[in-house]
Amino acid sequence: MGNDTCDWGYCDHNGPQVWPQKFPIADSGRRQSPIDIETDKCLVVREQPGQNELTILYPTVFPELTVQNSGYGWKVDIPEQLAKQSVLSGGPLAHTYQMAQFHCHWGKHCGVGSEHTVNGKSYAAELHFVHWNTGQFDNPLDAMMSTNGLAVLGVFLDIGEQSNDELDKLLEHITLVRYKGEKCDIAHNVDITKLLPENKSYWTYTGSLTTPPLSESVTWIVFSNPILCTEDQISRFRDMCFVTRDNSLTAALGGQLVENHRHTQPLYDRTVTFVQK
Ligand SMILES: [Zn+2]
Repeated sequence: MGNDTCDWGYCDHNGPQVWPQKFPIADSGRRQSPIDIETDKCLVVREQPGQNELTILYPTVFPELTVQNSGYGWKVDIPEQLAKQSVLSGGPLAHTYQMAQFHCHWGKHCGVGSEHTVNGKSYAAELHFVHWNTGQFDNPLDAMMSTNGLAVLGVFLDIGEQSNDELDKLLEHITLVRYKGEKCDIAHNVDITKLLPENKSYWTYTGSLTTPPLSESVTWIVFSNPILCTEDQISRFRDMCFVTRDNSLTAALGGQLVENHRHTQPLYDRTVTFVQK
C-alpha cells in the first residue's frame, strides 16, 4: 500500500473486517448499518398526505458544486448557502435537517456494491445524501456524534440500458479527482432531485454511519425504488484511487478503490418500517 497510512479503508489490512479493532462499536453497537431489509418482516404503513409526510425540498439547480476524492470514494459537499435551502423533514424525523454532502458506495462488480441489501439482494451501487439536524445542533460534527443527529437518504443504483445524465455530470470530472485529496469544480448545474427515484416509498430504521467512526446517529431513509445507470458508469468509479497522486506509483495495483461498501449488520431488536407512498 506504499506509504499511505490511513486509519481505515477497504483493503485487507484496514477494511471492514478489522474496523472493530479501532472502532469497537462496530461489534458492540446494537444499531449498526447497513442492514439486510427483509421485506416480509417490515412494519408497513401508508403515508397519509398532509399527515407527517416526508418532505424533501431541494433547490432545482445546484450550481458550482465541487466533486472530491475523499480516499474512500467520491464526495460532493454542499456549499452552506445552497445547503440552507435544502430541507428534509417529516416522516420519521422529529426535527428539520439540511444536506451536508452526498457520496457513493460500489463493489468489485455490479452484482455487489450497495450497502443495504433487500432480501439478500445487492444493487450495483448506493448513493447516500447526508443531512444533519439543524433543529437541535449547531454544526454537523456535533450532530454526527448524537442520537438523531443525522438523516441519510439511500438510493440504490441498478443497471439499465440508458446512462444517467446527472451521474454523467460528475463522471465527466472523475478522472480529474482520481487520487485522494483531489478536487474539481463541476462545470454543470446538477439537479439532485434527478438522482432520487420518482416513486419515493421508503424503508426507515435507526442506524449508524457505515464508515468509521460508525456513530449510531443516523435515521436511515432508503428508497425502495432504484434509479438506473449503466455498467460502464459504475466501472468508472472503480478507476478512483485511495492513495494520493504522489503515492500511486508505489501502491499495490495502483491503489485502486475497486470497492467501498460495508457488509450488512445484525438488526437486533430494531424494526424496519416501510412507508408506502
Ligand atoms: Zn455512505
